[in-house]
Amino acid sequence: MAQNRDYYEILGVDRNASQEEIKKAYRKLAIKYHPDKNPGDKEAEEKFKELAEAYAVLSDPEKRRRYDQFGHAGVGSGAGAQGFDFTDFDLADALRQFMEEGFGFGFGDIFGSSRSGGRRRKVTRKGSDLQIKLKLTLEEIATGVTKKIKVRKKVACPECNGTGSAKYSKTVMCPVCHGSGEIRQVSRSLFGQFVNVTTCHRCNGEGQVIENPCHTCHGSGLIDGSKTIEVNVPAGVSTGNYITLRGEGNAGIRGGQPGDLIIYIEEVPHELFERQGNDVVLYLPISFPTAALGGTIEVPTLTGKAKLKIAPGTQSGKILRMRGKGIPYLRGAGSGDQLVQVQVYVPTKLNDQERQILEKLATSENLDPSKNSHKSFFDKFKEAFSI
Ligand SMILES: [Zn+2]
Ligand SMILES: [Zn+2]
Repeated sequence: MAQNRDYYEILGVDRNASQEEIKKAYRKLAIKYHPDKNPGDKEAEEKFKELAEAYAVLSDPEKRRRYDQFGHAGVGSGAGAQGFDFTDFDLADALRQFMEEGFGFGFGDIFGSSRSGGRRRKVTRKGSDLQIKLKLTLEEIATGVTKKIKVRKKVACPECNGTGSAKYSKTVMCPVCHGSGEIRQVSRSLFGQFVNVTTCHRCNGEGQVIENPCHTCHGSGLIDGSKTIEVNVPAGVSTGNYITLRGEGNAGIRGGQPGDLIIYIEEVPHELFERQGNDVVLYLPISFPTAALGGTIEVPTLTGKAKLKIAPGTQSGKILRMRGKGIPYLRGAGSGDQLVQVQVYVPTKLNDQERQILEKLATSENLDPSKNSHKSFFDKFKEAFSI
């Protein structure tokens, strides 16, 4: 029966202890109370089981969260279907947990635990995932785009059909581990007999090797290949978004599932537009007559040219909003806006006629900012210098 002692207390750790601290504390105490070190000591055995129970809960973030919230009721038999019942945590479970914690040694031989059934050897293996970057222009992002990409990846060897073995060859038991997939080294120490278990290097833990490997793929079953893939990119993506294409990664080993292809979106900076979320900003020079007289001008947008009305008397620096001309929202309807910041263009060269007209205009009081809309600014300016 589980004693309802506090799990943190059992492990002697703080309630905010990190996973690493919990693991360390468990390891230290579990070694201290390990039945091997305390033969016939019932109290030590109970302690060892208690430690295993406490560790099983606190090392699992979800169980720990529930324990922190509800106490034993959150993880024990009293929690109904949601709970984890540890009242049956017997010595064999506790020993198995201790071994499986990857402390680098096991006690399997002494206790005769059914460890051999625990490690399932896989003859097929899932292919690895591939990651690629996909550069997109703002125009492509604004409309969405279908891209053809040539992806270099591992494909099943056509010579051996991905099996890795030459014709008429078969797989045979690994001569190094004799089919177990593991290499066990037994050593004695203070705590008793240790069995150090490592994965067999010859067969990679598979327990069998190919008698006659395929010449094309040297037995791996995979060769370098490529595939052209079509990717549909929805409108509105941005840098950091990614698209996962299931099964388009590297081929699996000996008929295993292929990995996935993960495509990371990278937005190429635009020479005219600046993206701000789903809005785009365009800096647009307009002529002085257009700013003063008003008019309709043509402006570029991400989806082609559009007309923009300039009101008479538009000031330099004013931002005009073109609704819905920005980038569509990735989730949900609608689009951002295009913001056009106008700048009155001043020519650097004038011909004689232009010069004559401007010189005439220069005498007009209406064109003198100090006598008009900017009066308050110039008043402050004068005040600042008169002090
Ligand atoms: Zn082997
Ligand atoms: Zn092959």
